[in-house]
Amino acid sequence: MLATCLGHPRIGVARELKKALEGHWSKKLSSAELEAVASQLRRRHWLAMKEAGLDHIPSNDFSLYDHMLDAAVSFGIVPARYRGIRDPLARYFAMARGLQDREAGLDVPALEMTKWFDTNYHYIVPELEPGQVFTLDASKILAEVDEARLLGVEPRPVLVGPVTFLMLAKMESGIALEQLDALLPLYDELFAKLVAKGISWVQLDEPCLVLDLDDAQKSAYARAFERLGACTSRPRVLVATYFGALGDNLGLAARSGLDALHVDLVRAPEQLDDVLARIPSAMALSVGVVDGRNVWRTDLDAAERLVERAVRALGEARVLVAPSCSLLHVPVDLDVERKLDGEVRTWLAFAKQKLAEIRALAGTADTSLRLETRKALEGRRSSPRTRRTHVRSRALAVSPAMFQRASHFPERARKQQQRFQLPLFPTTTIGSFPQTGDVRAARAAWRAGRVTADEYQAFLEAETRRCIERQEAVGLDVLVHGEFERNDMVEYFGEQLEGFAFTENGWVQSYGSRCVKPPVLFGDVSRPRPMTVAWSRYAQSLTTRPMKGMLTGPVTILQWSFVRDDQPRSETCLQLALALRDEVADLEAAGIGMIQVDEPAIREGLPLRRRDWPAYLGWAVEAFKLATSGVADETQVHTHMCYSEFGDMLEAIANMDADVLSIESSRSNMELLHDFARFRYPNAIGPGVYDIHSPRVPTADEMADRLEGAAGVLRAGQLWTNPDCGLKTRGWSEVESALRHMVEAAHRARISL
Ligand code: GLN
Ligand code: ZN
Repeated sequence: MLATCLGHPRIGVARELKKALEGHWSKKLSSAELEAVASQLRRRHWLAMKEAGLDHIPSNDFSLYDHMLDAAVSFGIVPARYRGIRDPLARYFAMARGLQDREAGLDVPALEMTKWFDTNYHYIVPELEPGQVFTLDASKILAEVDEARLLGVEPRPVLVGPVTFLMLAKMESGIALEQLDALLPLYDELFAKLVAKGISWVQLDEPCLVLDLDDAQKSAYARAFERLGACTSRPRVLVATYFGALGDNLGLAARSGLDALHVDLVRAPEQLDDVLARIPSAMALSVGVVDGRNVWRTDLDAAERLVERAVRALGEARVLVAPSCSLLHVPVDLDVERKLDGEVRTWLAFAKQKLAEIRALAGTADTSLRLETRKALEGRRSSPRTRRTHVRSRALAVSPAMFQRASHFPERARKQQQRFQLPLFPTTTIGSFPQTGDVRAARAAWRAGRVTADEYQAFLEAETRRCIERQEAVGLDVLVHGEFERNDMVEYFGEQLEGFAFTENGWVQSYGSRCVKPPVLFGDVSRPRPMTVAWSRYAQSLTTRPMKGMLTGPVTILQWSFVRDDQPRSETCLQLALALRDEVADLEAAGIGMIQVDEPAIREGLPLRRRDWPAYLGWAVEAFKLATSGVADETQVHTHMCYSEFGDMLEAIANMDADVLSIESSRSNMELLHDFARFRYPNAIGPGVYDIHSPRVPTADEMADRLEGAAGVLRAGQLWTNPDCGLKTRGWSEVESALRHMVEAAHRARISL
């Protein structure tokens, strides 16, 4: 059996790539110096995989920014607006992140970026032009082969497959996938070059095979595979699928005529029997049994049972052992964690530890690892921290009444209006105000022990007070405290809840140089004490206007953490919801009349297959309702969501039954509101009237137009006025002017009505 890997994390254990990229972008590091760091990283990762004893080691899995962008460049897909940039590296980064160079008279925006399947990794969307011509530039792919060989590593280059590439690309003037026949010859050409170099295997990533495909997409797959399979001069090809089951697309892969198929047996172990029954005798099978999406130590005994089933059916020679997907989505090395909770640590495996697990599963029985694993897993199963009696009995005692507000929305709205007396188009913000350098420096100083807790507290109080004064001066109707005490909207809550652990270096690439460090949700969740009440109470004491309490919702906390895999996500989400329900109750008891529970990540949690949507939306909505339904009619529940593609889930959003919903909409604009109107969305809604992702200060006119436009589509009495999202990444002066204009816009809209 061969031990293999589909891809190594790129960013570096100390985020070396991030630092080098940002140094280069700020002109402190030359291209050569950046390339030297990149080369060091590739070298380190290849040697790590070699030392781990892997048989197939990936190359071209590394990228300076993103592998989809690399693929686009290798196919000559460079939109006209970038072609004037002579230097290839500068052009590459211009496509990735835009380029503003006054002297050179250049101002080009970046290519679009979007989420890679259901991960938190974002890829650059290749943009095809009318009459797109494809030309092969294999230099990066070939150079990495040479580079690996210098280290004595015989690499298996990773290529994005043609159908996945085109399905994820966009084309203004048509359907990108229709360019398939023009693109396929480049794969022939590339294969010939790799054969000439003596490459015996390539990995062709086709994760779109786990999606619901329409007929055109299915026939594209059939055509692509037929052509690649028939190619006379090619390396052996492993078709890699991951993030789900092949399901009804299994036949497409099985009939491909290619040499090996990789399947994800972590997300979809149930597909193994089907795959074994239908895989043709000429194909090898790569079994993804080590989780590439999560940080838990693999149950080697259970994984081995899967591997053995494959071996019994196919024989050892036809089985490869692999992670479920590229290890891009997990941190690099557990060994560098110094402060991690000692018990939790034994339950975890990052990329380096996962490589050892793969090696162990592929044969050469490392009995010490097996014994250690059994002990650790037994510890995890029986630990009182993973199973807390009081949390479990409470979850079992949840009753249907706990998911419903006392009255329906119209009745609640009436009582709330009596209480708050708000004007039409009430103005508010989404929660955070600028996290300036001062705020971050104060937090760092407090964490490092350079200032006392009291000093830090006094600093935060002063910031909060100033923030409230500024909101009053601007004339907002409903205020927020500004979230200065929060580092991150998930970490802040995770740190105060039981059941979470935190890493120092558990970074995962989100896009380009950006990384996230998700908390590890390892055990039963409970709330030992109130988390936000003191801040909200303090903030409310400073003003007579309503102050919104501000919480992160259960689905978002779940979505942005590494979540325990020993029970369904729905159960974990319910525990989070119960903890938040207590917080909501405490806020209400403290006199906070409006409580916002943010769910920006509810859309991204949608499963890849439509069939699985109702189940997900069912428990996600229930979790929100459980968290928020315990309050009196007079208490106004708000929620906020980002990412505008809500068209498919309006019913679920309506079922959440928040009194007020604020949504990101300034970019996708009125389309979204038409969707809400068509659906007759009943409750109050604040479509973002300006884009906070840009430093530009919008005029009162344009925001008034937006509001009036919205009032033409929805009921005026239903609308709120707010920005798109939180303001924490912006500067104070632009925020103040933008909000002044926004308040002015609301005034105008009130008058014109
Ligand atoms: N309340 C949060 C903020 O204002 C919401 C952030 C988000 O939507 N991602 O920052
Ligand atoms: Zn948002």
